[in-house]
Amino acid sequence: MAATAVDSTRIIGLTGGIASGKTTVSSMLRELGAYVVDADVWARRVVEPGSDGLAEIVSAFGGDILMPDGTLNRSRLATIIFHDASLRDVLNRITHPRVRAGMLAETAAYASQRPGQPVIWDVPLLFEGETHRLVGATILVYVPLHVQKERLMVRNQLTEAEALARMAAQMPLDDKRALATYVIDNSQSLEFTREQVQRIWQMVGGQKEFRGDRAKQ
Ligand code: ATP
Repeated sequence: MAATAVDSTRIIGLTGGIASGKTTVSSMLRELGAYVVDADVWARRVVEPGSDGLAEIVSAFGGDILMPDGTLNRSRLATIIFHDASLRDVLNRITHPRVRAGMLAETAAYASQRPGQPVIWDVPLLFEGETHRLVGATILVYVPLHVQKERLMVRNQLTEAEALARMAAQMPLDDKRALATYVIDNSQSLEFTREQVQRIWQMVGGQKEFRGDRAKQ
């Protein structure tokens, strides 16, 4: 994919913690007309059958990492990298540059149509990884720890211990809070969250777009 210059000051990173409400806020931003580039979509795309990303993974991890239909065996890969940090680095060195290149290319394509409009980068591990260096500002979807734990237990049908273990695998939201440009408090009503989203969207210079412009999303 060709590298294209992108004005990084117009890229706004959106992140949160597990079950803090990032998907909820991302949908609200889309309703306001925001163009959202989704890191999870690119993470799947760069390892699709036929991609050079998948070919590199096979040469690093062996053919056993594929399902019979030629797609990536994600659960086997997850188990391998969970137990071996150096193999996790190998995988990240294959996928991360491709995800970033894809996100930049998608951003450039949108920016050429809508110069100056902000672009939201939806990135779960924005602060844990390097991606926060590529964006001009960041939005954190924040809830206090007890709310995060309760919502995670309800949504994923987890015990308290299981929920706490999943939360412990990420940087605490209180630490991310200190790094973010904008913080959305999603601990109250969805209406309260929507008001904050609208305010931030205005602050970053977002404009309402015609629905036809967003046919791709
Ligand atoms: P993950 O990254 O783990 O997928 P997320 O950060 O995208 O999670 P959501 O899926 O948006 O989080 O929200 C987590 C759960 O909390 C969902 O069940 C959602 O319906 C609920 N939720 C989100 N915001 C609120 C709110 N303001 N009040 C009550 N429930 C909420």
